[in-house]
Amino acid sequence: MKKGSKILIYLVVFLVFIYFLVISIVPKIVDKQHNQIRTKPPYVVSAESQELYDNLSFIADMHCDALLWKRDLLNDNDFGQVDIPKMIKANIGLQAFTIVTKSPKDQNFDKNTGDTDNISSLFLAQGRPTSSLTKRAILQCKELHGFAERSEGKFRVVISSEELSNFISDRKKDKRISAGILGVEGAHALDGKIENVQVLYDNGVRMMSAVHFFDNKLGSSAHGVKKEGLTEFGKSVILKMVSLDMIVDIAHCAPKTIDDIFEVTNGPIISSHTGVRGTCDSVRNLSDRHLRAIANSGGIICIAMFEEAVCGIDAAATARAMKYTSDLVGVDFVSLGSDFDGSVMTPFDITGLPLIVEEMKKIGFNEEEIKKIMGENVKNFLLKNLP
Ligand SMILES: [Zn+2]
Repeated sequence: MKKGSKILIYLVVFLVFIYFLVISIVPKIVDKQHNQIRTKPPYVVSAESQELYDNLSFIADMHCDALLWKRDLLNDNDFGQVDIPKMIKANIGLQAFTIVTKSPKDQNFDKNTGDTDNISSLFLAQGRPTSSLTKRAILQCKELHGFAERSEGKFRVVISSEELSNFISDRKKDKRISAGILGVEGAHALDGKIENVQVLYDNGVRMMSAVHFFDNKLGSSAHGVKKEGLTEFGKSVILKMVSLDMIVDIAHCAPKTIDDIFEVTNGPIISSHTGVRGTCDSVRNLSDRHLRAIANSGGIICIAMFEEAVCGIDAAATARAMKYTSDLVGVDFVSLGSDFDGSVMTPFDITGLPLIVEEMKKIGFNEEEIKKIMGENVKNFLLKNLP
């Protein structure tokens, strides 16, 4: 062998080694950096609050981006905010796993374009294919189904009201099982093609928001440039979703986009992770008018757990937004949409949710109301609206 070709082989082997080193180390570092918690477990609450929490028969959270980080969700990780062992420990009935496919560099809450993309480099560092946004979404769907397959019956992905109903009766016999549903955050995941709504549906997706942090082919984001409404393409996507019984999520939409969605469909509409302007006047939060419109559509308002949503990183701030919403539109339309693992600092990981119950009690929610907000509302909503 010539000396030159030997050097070339060494170089290739060295580069492959470096690549595998990167994909085994970097994702974890990035994950840890992005998904911090303010207080580490174990979390201490009063005996009464813990008892009330433990006796809740169905706890649900409608938003978490844990699939983005290529974390082994079957592992009880010492970082991140959600994984399946923690869900079971926290008595979670159902967690929505929402899929992010593209986010702008220097992401902010006021003004972003779709010209840049952080997820390409993240996927590259994770050793995941970066090709199309639809493929990025399908990959994350497959990973969640894979966790279910390898969970030895502890975790399942539900895609119909019948499956949810079966899960609920199985869980009455053994509470140490948990479920997930798949959602998509930002319909740029369709790669601009309406037929991809069906593709995502076939991969188990049952909920999707029109936009995420930038304006896309469907319409304007609250954090985009145009601040306009839904495009004709956006309208046809919403109609296609409705025809498939895919849940329409208005999280991150510009106010005009929200109005336009209510023009296209009578609902039900949800916001999977939000704050409310009544307690935290931020561009990503819902006005009283939109809160009433969601309730009138038979939808649900899922309150998040981070600074920009509730103006605080503590259980009290989230409970305050829940109380405001419940006083305004009724307790049947309020639930939890933490945004765990969504590149935000949360007050605690998922095992800290009893602290929310404690704060809810303090500000005057009774047991029946706590039961509804912590999961019964989501359960009834999904039983009624999943295909
Ligand atoms: Zn989000």
